[in-house]
Amino acid sequence: MNTQPNILLIYTGGTIGMVKDATSGALKAFDFTSLLVKIPELRLLDCSIETISFDEPIDSSNMNPKYWADIATIIADNYMKFDGFVVLHGSDTMSYTASALSFMLENLSKPVILTGSQLPIGDLRTDAKENLITSIQMASLQKDGEPVIREVGLYFEYKLYRGNRTTKLSAEHFEAFESLNYPFLAESGVHLKVNTDALWKPKANAELILRTTMDSDIGVLKLFPGISRPICEAILRSKLIKGLIIETYGSGNATTESWFLDLLKTAIDKGLYVVNVTQCVRGSVNMGQYETSSQMKSIGVISGNDMTTEAAIAKMMYLLGVKISGKDFQFYFERSLRGEIS
Ligand code: ASP
Repeated sequence: MNTQPNILLIYTGGTIGMVKDATSGALKAFDFTSLLVKIPELRLLDCSIETISFDEPIDSSNMNPKYWADIATIIADNYMKFDGFVVLHGSDTMSYTASALSFMLENLSKPVILTGSQLPIGDLRTDAKENLITSIQMASLQKDGEPVIREVGLYFEYKLYRGNRTTKLSAEHFEAFESLNYPFLAESGVHLKVNTDALWKPKANAELILRTTMDSDIGVLKLFPGISRPICEAILRSKLIKGLIIETYGSGNATTESWFLDLLKTAIDKGLYVVNVTQCVRGSVNMGQYETSSQMKSIGVISGNDMTTEAAIAKMMYLLGVKISGKDFQFYFERSLRGEIS
């Protein structure tokens, strides 16, 4: 009987799937169906691997909620057949996809590891092989017959992170991602070292629930000194958006000019959900700590706490998609649903 973990590799696109044509030097898509022939090292892994690919792999800059739904549906459809899932994805929007998948897959209790690379898999100095091989190993980790990782993770350059805590910070270093408000879940050195205390513990025996409806009628407003009133008016009075994420300064601070606070209050009173996340990559919104944020709190601005903007966007689309409304929206937004908030 084969007791090896069964891993499904889902290729969506991105640099990791590119090879250089040996004669012309041009980059072309790699045929993932022949993965085991092209990367024979994979045969040495203690798991069996099957692959599935998007019909037309995409650069992740073209990622959108429809593709998120496709990936989540592939996982849900194959959930009983496989012990773990590795999603190969361009790095540019990987943190958004990791966040979205974490919300779409409620009660997930198997590993879903996203990975990619800065250099194509066919490049001599590629980081793709290590990322791919170790992601498969992370997805295969088991203890007493149960998967060790039971959440959506993102593996890049020797570290496994909680996916909805990550941000892409570097366009050129192999170490492209960080999770600045949450410890990494595992590290690859001579041994794979798992940070057991940091792992997500899903509800016991709860069935996977797939929810793929995302409502993307939302906006993000990044504040900057000098931001003009007409621009803020255009956004906050827009009938096209149901939710707005405001990227504020420091611990959640914004200008206290009355035109700004009045605009916010009117928009919130009319039903717009306004969430406060900080522009800082580390630390949390704490509305009320300074005068420059206490008024926002009193007019009903929702705290994004220490969520990344990527996670806040995915969470807003998700909560709007499942039609959570009124006070419940604030209640769920301010609580950790998948470990996205400390
Ligand atoms: N632009 C590429 C993408 O995100 C970069 C990468 O693959 O890492 O698809």
